Amino acid sequence: MPALSDTPRAISGIGPRKAALLEKLGIRTLQDALEFYPRDYDDRTHITPITELREGERACVRAVVGTAPELRRIRKGMELTKFTIFDDSGTVNVTYFNNRYYAALLRVGEEYLFCGTVQGYGRGRQLVSPDYVKSVPGEDGGIVPIYPLTAGVTQKNLLRVTDAALDAVAGEYPEFLPGWLLAKYGLPCLRDALISIHRPKSIEEVAGARRRMVFEELFLLCCGLQRMKEKRREQNGLSFPDTDLTAFWEVLPFPPTGAQARAVNELAADCTGKYPMNRLVQGDVGSGKTAVAAALCTLAAQNGYQAALMAPTEILAAQHAQSLAPLFESLGFSCALLTGSMGAAEKRAKHAAISAGEIQIVIGTHALIQRDVEFARLGAVVVDEQHRFGVSQRAALRQKGQLPHVLVMSATPIPRTLALIMYGDLDVSVLDELPPGRQPVETFAVGEKMRPRIYKFIEKQLLDGGQVYVVCPLVEDGELPLKSAEQHVQTLRQVLPHRRVSLLHGRMKQAEKDAVMNAFAAGEADILVATTVIEVGVNVPNANLMVVEDGDRFGLSQLHQLRGRVGRGRRQSYCIFFGRDKGEKARARLKILCDTSDGFEIARADLAQRGPGDFFGQRQHGLPVLHIANLASDLALMQSAREEAEALLAEDPALTHYPELRERVNRMFRTPHTA
Ligand code: ADP
Ligand code: MG
Repeated sequence: MPALSDTPRAISGIGPRKAALLEKLGIRTLQDALEFYPRDYDDRTHITPITELREGERACVRAVVGTAPELRRIRKGMELTKFTIFDDSGTVNVTYFNNRYYAALLRVGEEYLFCGTVQGYGRGRQLVSPDYVKSVPGEDGGIVPIYPLTAGVTQKNLLRVTDAALDAVAGEYPEFLPGWLLAKYGLPCLRDALISIHRPKSIEEVAGARRRMVFEELFLLCCGLQRMKEKRREQNGLSFPDTDLTAFWEVLPFPPTGAQARAVNELAADCTGKYPMNRLVQGDVGSGKTAVAAALCTLAAQNGYQAALMAPTEILAAQHAQSLAPLFESLGFSCALLTGSMGAAEKRAKHAAISAGEIQIVIGTHALIQRDVEFARLGAVVVDEQHRFGVSQRAALRQKGQLPHVLVMSATPIPRTLALIMYGDLDVSVLDELPPGRQPVETFAVGEKMRPRIYKFIEKQLLDGGQVYVVCPLVEDGELPLKSAEQHVQTLRQVLPHRRVSLLHGRMKQAEKDAVMNAFAAGEADILVATTVIEVGVNVPNANLMVVEDGDRFGLSQLHQLRGRVGRGRRQSYCIFFGRDKGEKARARLKILCDTSDGFEIARADLAQRGPGDFFGQRQHGLPVLHIANLASDLALMQSAREEAEALLAEDPALTHYPELRERVNRMFRTPHTA
């Protein structure tokens, strides 16, 4: 009998070619196969009469093959096999694409169980590419797992491989979670859970098994993260003994909000040298994260270190430099901007000044992490709008110093439990308070019918002395019926010929972008048509109307960010999302934004709608891949898993008493991080 450490080739019928394909699915050993969970199940205990088949549903029918499979070439390389099946209630068509051999094994007049997806309705209704088994009178087909596939690998192959893996654990399989933990949460042991998840006898059994697997995965993840945190805490951090920020508060043009003061106190306490700080500041758009970042830069500089502040776009970096450089300089610190579009000579001069330590606070873009940038004494780094950077970019900035204190900032606030997990071993500060005097932005989701009225509304705001942003999703006219920024500029110039309309998009040269942005900020343009390059950070207090074209093309959090560009001054501000007239769902989605301005709530809705993969972007979190847990829907288990992991590691930091558990944690964190 094959062992768990064997490759699938140890199974008869799996040759080198299949094995290579299985490897694509991540199955190198039978152990891997054990952890390759079905994505769904066919409940063949539940038979649907043919007349009750509903479009879009997956269903099982017990039916007799009525006509011989008929083969048709629909175009080059595309074959369609078609036949009918019937039961007591009616008849339905069955189709297979490029799979004539599978259908050829069926015999007319025999009864089978077919499980597949229903497409179309009325006479066009069909069962598409169903799996089938011979029907045995009086017996149901059981619950059949459906595995995720790749080209060339069939369900049959996976059933065979997982069968072999399950045989290997049938007798006994070591449990690595403490027994009391299983008892406390009513979870099945690992062996039972594995058998239930691969070969369940009922759908209820799957739920229990899945719960165990989710808990296990999140628990391992939390144990690993907690250990990373502990390890970081074993290192000594740079010490910033001078924590007196009196002078800083004095030059800051406004008194801090309570939340800002709290966050600054938290990070100042982190910089005492106990260990390197690794902190996330989460705060809604406009909550004043920049001032918190500036406090950290000041702390570094007044303790003899350099600080680097990295922003995702040149516009944002330039704006930070513009507002912060005078502040730092009045405190006696040198500050400079470094971006990719600077001339070679200017860059060289700045590189030299940075490596000589003459520039104390450097504000920049990705240009900061280029190889030829060297710091003399980098003590603190800040990553603004961290979701715009990948893990390796954030790491690259950190590596410019010797264990510098690190602050990352995010405007997409998420529930704390999730933040603690998604952002790995970070400590979290929350800016849950907006600076005083903010008026809520009145928000509307509208359809095409409203367009003439919206143009009038734009004109009215301009007459009152305001300014307007119009955001479009694409730069050039694509195939999609979307307003392109370039085309939209033309439209607006026609509709409002007396108004100054300018254009800003990501492909313009930096100097052009700066010129356009500065002119708009100076009131030299009335309407700025832009792509999402203005999404982050841009600050023009006089702008009080944001119009977003094709609002349904953006994520909710992104729209919320866009809305954050207005409502920054004294004028009543407005935000208008155009959605296509059809698509109730799209409009309902936008309605969330009309009803609330709470970034946490919006992020939660966004996460639930899009799922964690899209929401976080696969590349940016850098955690081990989760195979089964769903970060949006498994929040409650996540909370328990985290609490238990923390409690266990507080008692036994090296997991000395739980060697199998430690091994599993290590294994999870050894495997390559996110694809
Ligand atoms: P975020 O980066 O969190 O979106 P910013 O740091 O850009 O927000 O701040 C938004 C605006 O609020 C800026 O114009 C800033 O000057 C202003 N601001 C920040 N903190 C305060 C405060 N405590 N009181 C008044 N205005 C503030
Ligand atoms: Mg910001």
